[in-house]
Amino acid sequence: MDLTVKAETIPRIGETVLGKEFKMAPGGKGANQAVAAAKLGSDVTIVGRVGADFYGDRLIENAEHYGINTEFVVRDPETYTGIALIMVDKKGNNIISVAQGADSRCTIEDVDKAENTLRTSSVLLVQLEIPISVVEYAMRKASYYGVRTILNPAPAHKLSKRIMHDAFILIPNEREAELLSGLRITDIDSARKAAKRIVEEGTRNVVLTIGKKGAILATREEVVRVPAPRVKAIDTTGAGDAFCAALAVSVSSGRNLKESVGFANWAGAYATTKVGAQEALPSLKELRRFMHERNSI
Ligand code: ADP
Repeated sequence: MDLTVKAETIPRIGETVLGKEFKMAPGGKGANQAVAAAKLGSDVTIVGRVGADFYGDRLIENAEHYGINTEFVVRDPETYTGIALIMVDKKGNNIISVAQGADSRCTIEDVDKAENTLRTSSVLLVQLEIPISVVEYAMRKASYYGVRTILNPAPAHKLSKRIMHDAFILIPNEREAELLSGLRITDIDSARKAAKRIVEEGTRNVVLTIGKKGAILATREEVVRVPAPRVKAIDTTGAGDAFCAALAVSVSSGRNLKESVGFANWAGAYATTKVGAQEALPSLKELRRFMHERNSI
């Protein structure tokens, strides 16, 4: 759950500042991507943990509101729901403190409970806000069943050879790709090199997101840039989540990678034109209208 206070300034150590606005909004990469995929029309099941508390109840309610199956979300009575405390000043600068709580207690048994659903799914989409050992386990299991695995390695973290190998698609942003490739990214050319390097390290397909420039798709055969549509971006929160979910939705519907990256760019770009995280995620209808309007300019 994201708890945000807006004030004139961000308080210094020992200072109390009176805020002007408060907002409680469901968040977390996994939940945002699940909501994004559901809004785009996919049949989504989320696996994860919340505390047996007020925030946990709200998060489950919210996911269900979007039609997401939450039967494998564990309500853990021994901890609290993961929260992010966000303070924003009048210029839009922010500081964020995260207490992971239940997220960090997600286990491989939680994944096992969802085994039947996983086995019959077309895609497993995972992020790194739960223990990496659980991510690794879920990806192994999905690969065993022939389910395509898509890993958004965020927040940035080094990955084992095994995870890199089990990922059908890895979707890092520039910071994450720098960490995984060991290369600095300063422009499109260096981004291409970094994506290629990650493929050489053993990942089949890499989709490196590069903000308004779109994304680099690197496979064993080619490295291409797929440009994003030009939009008037007002808030980039949620763009990465919209992108990952749209890519997963498109791949699961059988479209090829290049087309899927193109579709994901539209979803990412759409999210930058709206304020907030989940509110900024498009439904399939909204995205189609957006694509139609832009294409006819
Ligand atoms: P993150 O927010 O995770 O760092 P990016 O900034 O790379 O990720 O953005 C993810 C995707 O969102 C991009 O690949 C692109 O499709 C879309 N996007 C982000 N910023 C813009 C923008 N200013 N204009 C158009 N599309 C954008």
